Amino acid sequence: MRLNLTLIILFAAVVVLCIWLPTRVLRRRHVKAAALSDVVVRCAQGHFFTTIWIAGASFKSVRLGWRRYQYCPVGKHWSVVTPMPIDQLSDAERIEAARVHDIRIP
Ligand SMILES: [Zn+2]
Repeated sequence: MRLNLTLIILFAAVVVLCIWLPTRVLRRRHVKAAALSDVVVRCAQGHFFTTIWIAGASFKSVRLGWRRYQYCPVGKHWSVVTPMPIDQLSDAERIEAARVHDIRIP
C-alpha cells in the first residue's frame, strides 16, 4: 500500500513537471487564445509555420528543452524550431505562419 502511494505521488510529480508546467508556460508566453494545435514556430533558417505543440508528446520531433528538432515544411529541411510569442510577430510573419501547417501529429 505504501509503495502504491509513493508511485502515485511520483507519477503526479512527473505529470506536473513534464506536461502541466511546460504547457502553462507555453500558453502564457506564446499562445494567448489559440489551441496548442496552432502554435507558431520559427526554424533556424527563419521560416515561420504553424504546428501542434503539446508538452510531453512529440512523435514527429526530438525535444530539446524549450526547442524541438523537426521537419520544416516551408524550407523542406530538418531544423531546430522555436515557439514564437504571437504578440511579437509582424503581420507578414503571422500570415506566413498561417499559410503552412505541418502534419497533424504532435
Ligand atoms: Zn525552415
